[in-house]
Amino acid sequence: MSTVENEIIQYFQKLDRSFYMETDKGMAHMDQPVSIGHGQTISQPSLVLKMTLLLDVYPEAKVLEVGTGSGFQTDVLASFSKEVYTVERIEALHERAKEKLAAAGYHNVKCKLGDGSCGWKEYAPYDRIIVTAAASKIPPHLIDQLAFGGKMLIPVGTPVSQELTLVEKDEGGEVKTTFLDHVVFVKLQGDYDEAEG
Ligand code: SAM
Repeated sequence: MSTVENEIIQYFQKLDRSFYMETDKGMAHMDQPVSIGHGQTISQPSLVLKMTLLLDVYPEAKVLEVGTGSGFQTDVLASFSKEVYTVERIEALHERAKEKLAAAGYHNVKCKLGDGSCGWKEYAPYDRIIVTAAASKIPPHLIDQLAFGGKMLIPVGTPVSQELTLVEKDEGGEVKTTFLDHVVFVKLQGDYDEAEG
């Protein structure tokens, strides 16, 4: 295991999930998904950690996160990369996460309210992209906005079950996908089904 991976695990063990929760704070330490309101959830901590490690973040990385939710995953990403650009479509969650991340002292996070399924073109390309909602297919704009040498993690499948998918774009722009695990996420909303890359 690399030093960065060890540091991420240690950071994660100390991170208090209840800081990003509004209700059911007693469940913060359980390895279970918890509600954050508006029909949305934070995944179980073991999955958040696993996805962070698989994303392979590094101190110089520019990261796009689609699905800010509570800001819990954003916190971990922001601690181990240079900049995080995070998009959330539900205004109340976006506002709450923005406040929490500012209160936690992050200056390297930009939060946007909107449809992240088409990415955030203004700041592209991204070295790493993480989507924390279930897509029916890999959104073409996200592949477009991934840097050469970049990696994206995205759950792809039906609303009830998805394959956690690693998308790697090599230095020549070739894209390779690898299925890693079965996961269950809330649906990725948005217009990406119709969008061209
Ligand atoms: N990673 C988050 C956390 O740590 O709290 C949890 C994310 S939750 C499983 C998925 C989030 O994706 C929800 O907050 C949902 O509103 C958001 N979402 C779904 N479709 C979206 C879209 N097209 N653009 C931005 N956010 C979206």
